[in-house]
Amino acid sequence: MSILTLAEIRNLIHENGMRSTAPRIAVLRYLSEAESPLSHRELVDALAEQGLDRTTVYRNLVDLTEVGVVQRTDVGDHTWRFELANSRVDGDESKHPHFTCSDCGTVSCLPEVTLKVKSTKGVPKSLTQQKVEIKVAGICDACA
Ligand SMILES: [Zn+2]
Ligand SMILES: [Zn+2]
Repeated sequence: MSILTLAEIRNLIHENGMRSTAPRIAVLRYLSEAESPLSHRELVDALAEQGLDRTTVYRNLVDLTEVGVVQRTDVGDHTWRFELANSRVDGDESKHPHFTCSDCGTVSCLPEVTLKVKSTKGVPKSLTQQKVEIKVAGICDACA
């Protein structure tokens, strides 16, 4: 979740065996500057002035998600939100939790946290194997 330079964006694309096309760079650049995960719609709105249409944005999001440069999250409102995958070291797909405002629906990234759950009766296996996503909901600063 840090702003990438144009060179870093190009590298990231090449490292993953893709061509650095202008739309792809634009999508990644916007995601790297965003402070929270963005929906397809938000990206389309933001990139329209650069001449990117919804199909182009969508295709690039899918490509980038497939290679793991971008990760997508559904915070519970059945809308995919996209953001740069921040820790892809050692193929570790560690996911940070997201905070959703139950009033305005704004989504923000939270620092990585570890939730330790003892495996006792009634606890789903996926929980102790860390295969769950943590979702936090509440009221954001703007709505408070
Ligand atoms: Zn809010
Ligand atoms: Zn996030």
